[in-house]
Amino acid sequence: MQKPEIKCNTCGTIDWQYSRQYGDYHLWRCRTCQLIVLFPQPTNSELESLYGQNYFVQHLEAQMPQTSKDIEKEIQKRYHFVHWLEMTSKRGYRKNFRDWLRHRLSAKSAGR
Ligand SMILES: [Zn+2]
Repeated sequence: MQKPEIKCNTCGTIDWQYSRQYGDYHLWRCRTCQLIVLFPQPTNSELESLYGQNYFVQHLEAQMPQTSKDIEKEIQKRYHFVHWLEMTSKRGYRKNFRDWLRHRLSAKSAGR
């Protein structure tokens, strides 16, 4: 099996460990940041046959709230998400992510 020779989109390293097969696809995990990717990536024609032209439209329509109660629930959910996002950015999520990554890297080099 061909190991990915691509840089991780999250941390930029090239250190992949085979994770598992998912249908016809193979999943690889970045040893540094744990990001999981498909490799080899599906071709454009595979993506077209998987998703089709109306895939996203159909999914959006299926997710549209139908009753006023559903609409209310949806608004609540989005409100909570926006609030969470605001709180996270106030705490400096980029710094938190860097600290977390640094912690992961030091744990890895210490063999933990
Ligand atoms: Zn990574």
